[in-house]
Amino acid sequence: MSGDTLTIDGLIEWLTAFRAEIAEQRSWLTELDSAIGDADHGANMARGMDAVVAKLDDAHPETVDELFKAVGMTLVGSVGGASGPLYGTFFLRMGMTAGAVSSLDGAALAAALRAGLDGIVARGKAEAGDKTMFDALAPGLDALDAALASGSSLADATRAAADAALAGRDATEPLVARKGRASYLGERSAGHLDPGAASSAILLETLAGTAAGT
Ligand code: ADP
Ligand code: MG
Repeated sequence: MSGDTLTIDGLIEWLTAFRAEIAEQRSWLTELDSAIGDADHGANMARGMDAVVAKLDDAHPETVDELFKAVGMTLVGSVGGASGPLYGTFFLRMGMTAGAVSSLDGAALAAALRAGLDGIVARGKAEAGDKTMFDALAPGLDALDAALASGSSLADATRAAADAALAGRDATEPLVARKGRASYLGERSAGHLDPGAASSAILLETLAGTAAGT
């Protein structure tokens, strides 16, 4: 962190915090996925983020595109299931959009995150209300854009994004899944939070924590 930007070190701090929080919430994520999936989302995310942090310890990326490319490739390579390619694409697209820079200000961060979400949609075709990670990320990024447009600091804007993602996650509970494994359950998928929306809310929560300097 330096003022209203996230440096490479700040972004690595975010990813490290995400890994720690995923480890903390691993059983809960698995519990969510056992209700409407195959009980592996906690293990998938924990394995992927452990591999990401190990990779970054080794790789010492110097630009944001190198950083997110390493993250995305590692997730694609280490996480099976739907979430590996989707989160992998998210970070690969973030890197491509950020480019060879050494820090991101709010606008650049928002643009990179938006490109990441567009990548998830290009890959998985999720729409609002399908009960997927999209339902946490999309309101989160909309809130981020709105806060930045009204002049909020990076810390306040990412806090707004995290809060909106959390609300989006909670709003997946009554939904009937229309994408992914949970969609095989039809109506029986209603009444449970979506695991990927839960991990995505953690992603934006840890971003807000990092931007706040905590
Ligand atoms: P799998 O379903 O292959 O076991 P995970 O359990 O790791 O993979 O991840 C499941 C999560 O992936 C779901 O909760 C949902 O949020 C997300 N997901 C599945 N399919 C899609 C899709 N087409 N688009 C967006 N997200 C999806
Ligand atoms: Mg699963």
